[in-house]
Amino acid sequence: MTCIFCQIVARELPAEILFEDSELVVFKDINPEAPVHLLIVPKRHFDSLNSLDELTAQIGARMFLAAKKMAESLGIESGYKVLINCGREGGQVIRHLHMHLLGGWGRKPVRR
Ligand code: AMP
Ligand code: ZN
Repeated sequence: MTCIFCQIVARELPAEILFEDSELVVFKDINPEAPVHLLIVPKRHFDSLNSLDELTAQIGARMFLAAKKMAESLGIESGYKVLINCGREGGQVIRHLHMHLLGGWGRKPVRR
């Protein structure tokens, strides 16, 4: 069975996708740990950061650039964090390479 992030990429599972290009999708984390918590996910399946090599390292650069652009487009560029958990001991639960983008702490709460 394909992994759940591959299924999100293939639109077989729902997700709140905020950005997509030929190499990446960016969607909201289902269990946010910050006011803004996005996942930046390569469309191609890599198990983890350990799977990148000289030929595929460029995907890492694309992920960093996507984090910067998403932070700018969401107005949180004054302060955010990016995080990649790698391996079970490193806290990686989903075995498909992804970068967390966390921020928005300075935002005023939305009144309803
Ligand atoms: P990690 O611990 O780095 O593997 O992070 C996995 C992240 O994926 C967690 O923050 C989860 O909340 C998130 N997550 C798991 N399933 C989904 C899903 N179906 N849609 C969006 N985010 C998810
Ligand atoms: Zn996958």
